[in-house]
Amino acid sequence: MRLVIFGPPGSGKGTYASRLAPRLGVPHISTGDILREEVKSGSELGRSISSYVSNGKLVPDEVVNRVMEKRLSQEDCKRGFILDGYPRTLQQALFLDRFSKIDFVINLNVPDEVIVRRLSSRLVCRRCGAIYNRITLPPRVEGVCDKCGGELYQRDDDKPEVVRERIRIYKNEAAPLLEHYRRTGVAIIDFFYEPDESGGDVSPETVVDRIVKALKGSSCCF
Ligand code: AMP
Repeated sequence: MRLVIFGPPGSGKGTYASRLAPRLGVPHISTGDILREEVKSGSELGRSISSYVSNGKLVPDEVVNRVMEKRLSQEDCKRGFILDGYPRTLQQALFLDRFSKIDFVINLNVPDEVIVRRLSSRLVCRRCGAIYNRITLPPRVEGVCDKCGGELYQRDDDKPEVVRERIRIYKNEAAPLLEHYRRTGVAIIDFFYEPDESGGDVSPETVVDRIVKALKGSSCCF
């Protein structure tokens, strides 16, 4: 099963995709994680993209397409994948269409004020990339990853001014992409943000259960 998960930064794409992947038996492929790894490694590619990534600007299409083509041709993608953060432009979507057919698009709709609240409290593990939230998904020990004991930090691009820029970019880019998938007959499953009874976020597990149910309802490959 080949899925693309869409949603503004902070909509929970990474959190949901990482939990959905083992349930579907496919890898979760986060373009942001792959690009950040390149930057961290200090490779030539990493050096050439580092200013884009830390300023929340899109890395040029040719570079991202090359990186993703390489990743998607690996063995673990034979049974499918969940793409998180790719494609982000029409050019990337057209490139992807040339070598892979997408079965479903999961489209997360979340209001701006919820995004700002979430991202300013998001923490990421420096070692394994696990995602936490100071308010909704705190680690058991402050500043320490539950899974691997790594140090938790706030990403440079989760700072408010960069978040605003990322939301602006997302809005400009998402509409034509959704239109592209609609036009080419790919099933789009929309999810609308709903707070729990106390006005907070529902648990990631609850959202993932809803996504699995919707996929089953769409008679896909279970
Ligand atoms: P993310 O973790 O998805 O929020 O991505 C973090 C950063 O990586 C973005 O702000 C961009 O600089 C870069 N990036 C991630 N995915 C893409 C993509 N598909 N195309 C271009 N740049 C990307």
